[in-house]
Amino acid sequence: MYHDGVSEEESVAVRPPGRVLVVEDDRVTREFVAGLLRGAGFEVQTLETGSPAVDMARSGKVDLVLLDVVMPGVSGIDVCRMIKSVTGDAFVPVILVTAKSDTASRVEGLRIGADDYVCKPFDERELLARVEGMLRIKQMHDEVTTAKARLQELAVRDDLTGLFNFRYLHTRLHEEFKRAERYREPLACAMVDVDGFKSFNDQYGHEVGDIVIKGVAERLTAALREIDVVARYGGDEFLIILPSTHFSGALTVADRTWRSLGDEPFEVNGRELHVTCSIGVALYPSRDVGSKDELLRAADAALYQAKDDGRNRICVFQHQGYIYNPIGE
Ligand code: GH3
Ligand code: MG
Repeated sequence: MYHDGVSEEESVAVRPPGRVLVVEDDRVTREFVAGLLRGAGFEVQTLETGSPAVDMARSGKVDLVLLDVVMPGVSGIDVCRMIKSVTGDAFVPVILVTAKSDTASRVEGLRIGADDYVCKPFDERELLARVEGMLRIKQMHDEVTTAKARLQELAVRDDLTGLFNFRYLHTRLHEEFKRAERYREPLACAMVDVDGFKSFNDQYGHEVGDIVIKGVAERLTAALREIDVVARYGGDEFLIILPSTHFSGALTVADRTWRSLGDEPFEVNGRELHVTCSIGVALYPSRDVGSKDELLRAADAALYQAKDDGRNRICVFQHQGYIYNPIGE
C-alpha cells in the first residue's frame, strides 16, 4: 500500500529509532539509567545479564544497547563482540559503560566494534547526548539502507509492469542455467508475445496499450508458481523461466499461460479487448541447447514459428530446428 509515494514498509523502516536496551547488573544503576532514558522519551528495556541481549539485538527489537562492561558471567566486551557479529548489515549501536579508570576495556571495546562509551560515574546530560547522537547516526544508516534496497529493487524491475527487467532476466537465466548444468536438472523457458499488439496502440492509443501490457503481466504472474520467473523481455514480449521443469511440465505451463490471456477479454475503459498470444518453448537439456543463449535462441525460434504458423498458438523447439506444434491445426 502506498501513501504519498512512501510504502508502509518504508515508513516503518525510517521511523526515528528510540528503543534502548540497558544491560547492567547493578539494580540501582539500572533503574536510574532506565528512568533517565524513559524521562527523555525513549522506550526502555532492561536486562541484568548480557547473554539475552544478543538475541534481542539480532531480532531487530532494539535500536541501541547501553552495555555495562563489568558484569558477572559474560563480560560486556564479549556481549558487544557477539552483538556486532550477529547483527550483520543492520546497525545496532552499542555504547559501553565503563569505570573512568578502565582505559583498557574502553580501547578493547572500541577495537571490537563498540560505537561509543560513557564513564561511570556519568553526567546525565552527557549520557543522554551520547544516546541521542548515536540514534541519529542509526536513523541515517537505516534510511540509507532502505534507500539502497529500494534502488536495488528498482534496478531489476521494469517500470511499467513491475516484472523483472531484461538485465535481471539475463543474470537470473545465467544462474539457473549453471545450476541446471551442475545438478543435471531440466530447465525450460517460454517466450510469450502478444499477437497483433500494434493494433491496440493504433486503434485505442498508447495508454490503452500500456494498460493491456500491465494486465498481461498480471495474468502471467498469476498463472505461474512462485519459483518460476517471469520478466518483461521488451515491448509486448515476456520470458518465463521454469527451473526443474521437463517437457510435459513446460507444456502445461505454456498452455495455462496461453489460456490465461485468451480465455477472458481484458476490460479497459468499459471496452472488452480480446488478447491472444503466441508462445515459444525451449528446453534444456536438448540436442541444440548447450548454453543459456542457445536456450533463448531456441525459444525465440519457436516463437517465430508460432507466429509464422498463424499466431495464437504454442510451439516447442525440439532439436535441429524441428518445431513441434501441440495446438496448431
Ligand atoms: P505480432 O503478432 O507479430 O507480435 O504483432 P505485433 O503487432 O504485436 O508486433 P510486435 O510484437 O513486433 O510489436 C510490438 C509493439 O508493441 C511495438 C510497439 O509499438 C508496441 N510497444 C512496445 N512497447 C510498448 C509499451 O511499453 N507500451 C505500449 N503501449 N506499446 C508498446
Ligand atoms: Mg507482438
